[in-house]
Parts: sequence; structure tokens; C-alpha cells
Amino acid sequence: MSPLKTVSALADAGLIPAERAGALEPVAARYAVALTDTVARLIDRGDPNDPIARQYIPSEAELRATPEERSDPIGDAAHSPVPGIVHRHADRVLFKLVHNCPVYCRFCFRREMVGPDSESALLPDVFANAVAYIEGHPEIWEVIVTGGDPFSLSARRIGEVAAHLAAIPHVKIVRWHTRLPVVDPARINDEFVASLLTPGVTTIVALHANHPRELTAAARAACARLIDAGIPMLSQSVLLKGVNDDVKTLEALMRTFVEARVKPYYLHHADLAPGTSHFRVSIEEGLTLMGALRARLSGLCVPQYVLDIPGGVAKVRLTSTDVEKTATGWRIRDPDGNWHAYPAGLRPLS
Ligand SMILES: *Cc1c(COP(=O)(O)O)cnc(C)c1O
Ligand code: SF4
Repeated sequence: MSPLKTVSALADAGLIPAERAGALEPVAARYAVALTDTVARLIDRGDPNDPIARQYIPSEAELRATPEERSDPIGDAAHSPVPGIVHRHADRVLFKLVHNCPVYCRFCFRREMVGPDSESALLPDVFANAVAYIEGHPEIWEVIVTGGDPFSLSARRIGEVAAHLAAIPHVKIVRWHTRLPVVDPARINDEFVASLLTPGVTTIVALHANHPRELTAAARAACARLIDAGIPMLSQSVLLKGVNDDVKTLEALMRTFVEARVKPYYLHHADLAPGTSHFRVSIEEGLTLMGALRARLSGLCVPQYVLDIPGGVAKVRLTSTDVEKTATGWRIRDPDGNWHAYPAGLRPLS
């Protein structure tokens, strides 16, 4: 129910100076804007470099695309047999259920695909066709429900989706990817939790959060409601310049996840989404930060540092043995042993 979806609403709320509104209108016209009240309250209005604001408040830098950026940076389209499904690995599919989110992250890897103007949920025939695809492929063991943010759907609709998937005998795991426990924790109420639990499948929730301040008491309580109901939780974070690209912040983030019973799973190297170069950290810095985390933290707290090779090639767990510096950037080895060129981590343009 957030009203914070326009530049003028952000200015009225004191989240951007009124004199910047004109310059930010074209950004908001290009990439969707939304903040929940929860997120707005978390922002430190006195800090021009606030790591929460940086994730959600539009910036002029987004209008500067760089040559290596792509509208489909992780190559979903290359592996989409039917609309709504991405099938790259035999035993699991992504099921992109909705195109909208309660917040719009400025670094979103699907920013060309998400937004309030997109058809919010899959149309009934597209949904039915996607479910039929999963039914027709007995090798699919896990369905990763994503979007957009699938938890932007109502509890009733979530329950229907879960029931459709649970009715497919070979689907054993349904993993929901969401930001909702952080950005709108009150929505994770008992009815919502119950809608996720369907006999016949194991439900898992992967939470996207990037800064320890996002894991407020209310967010941790929302996670506890899911976990206490028997739903294991994993984390996903994106390594972002000016948000979490230092050891102290990453350490606090990972420890806070574990304290909240959320197992750190992935730290994503930021994808080459358009207008996001100001968020990118070099692979070198990412590997250094991971080394520092490994040296300081219990293995419980250490996520895997992963990068999606553009074009839908593969998701690679980055370790120093799978990346090599080249004259123009990097080369990265995929799980099959093949090497792929990857552009250098660019410095911010401003
Ligand atoms: C990342 C990804 C998955 C998820 O699988 P993981 O084992 O969690 O990495 C599934 N399908 C696609 C296309 C992916 O990019
Ligand atoms: S919640 Fe996820 S899909 Fe939605 S804008 Fe943020 S990164 Fe993109």
C-alpha cells in the first residue's frame, strides 16, 4: 500500500531534495520506483551515503549505460522453453510468477522486466502452460518461484500456486525467493505462512537482503514465523558498492542472518544490468572480501560468491581457481571447465 512510487512522493517524504526532483523524473520514467513505508523509515535522511537509501532511491547515474551492460544480463531468455519458466539445469526450474515487487531495487538484474506497468501476475493460460511444462518434465525436482517478488501475491493466490506445484508428483522442493520479510514484514502473518505449507512438497524461502540494518527486529520476527512453521530459510545478497562492499558490513550481515536462523547461501557478484555500473565492485575486490570473510567467520556464516556468466551460460561459484585476469578483464571457468571472457569491474562513472 505504499504511496512512495513517484519522484514527487519521495520529495514530499523528504527522501530526496526538492531541487533534485526534476533530474530524477527521467530515471523514474525509465525504471520503476517503489519503497514501502518500512524501508522509508529505515533510511537515515541525514546521511547522504545511507546504504539503505542507495538501494532504493533513484539516481541520475542510472541513465548512463555502459557498453557491456545487457537488458537480460543473466540470459533468462536463452533457456525459456515457455513463458514464465527458465530451465537451465535439468533438476530445477525458475518459475517467474509475477513481474512486480513491493520495492524496486536500483541494481535489479531483471529491471527491464519488472515494474508496475508489466502484467502483474501471469495470465491464467500462461500460468497453466508453465505448470504443464513442469508436469511434463519428470526430471524437475525443484521449482524456484521468483519474479519480481512472488510474495507480492495474496496468501490465497500463494496457496493456489503451492497446491498446483504440490500436485506434481516429481516436484519435491518449492523454493520462494523474496524480499518481503525485510520490506514489509507485517505481511508475513499466520495466514500467509499457512498458505505456503502444502503437504507433498518441502517449502523453502530464500530471503534477499544486503545490509545488516535491513534485518530489523520486525524482519527477524517475520523470518521466525516462517522458520517456526517448519520452513528452512536461506539468504541471498548482492555485493554492491556503497552498500556492503566492506568486510565489517558483510560480516555483520552474515552473522545477523545466522542469528536469525537464515543460512547464508549466495553473495551475488552484481550482474551487468543497464545503468548499474555505479554499484559494481570488481571481481578482484569480491574475491578479497570473501577471503577476509572466510578468515574471520564460522563456516556457518560464509555464503558462496557466485557470478552469472552473461548469456545464460552458467552460475559459477567464484574462487581464485576459476577466474583469471586477462588484458581486457577476466576469464571465468564454468562448471563444465570451459572458459568465458568477462569484462573488467568498472569504476563508478561519477
Ligand atoms: C541460480 C539458478 C538456479 C538456482 O539453482 P542453485 O542451485 O540455487 O544455484 C536455477 N536456475 C537458474 C536458471 C539459475 O540461474
Ligand atoms: S526485489 Fe528482486 S526482482 Fe524486485 S526489484 Fe529488487 S532485485 Fe529486482
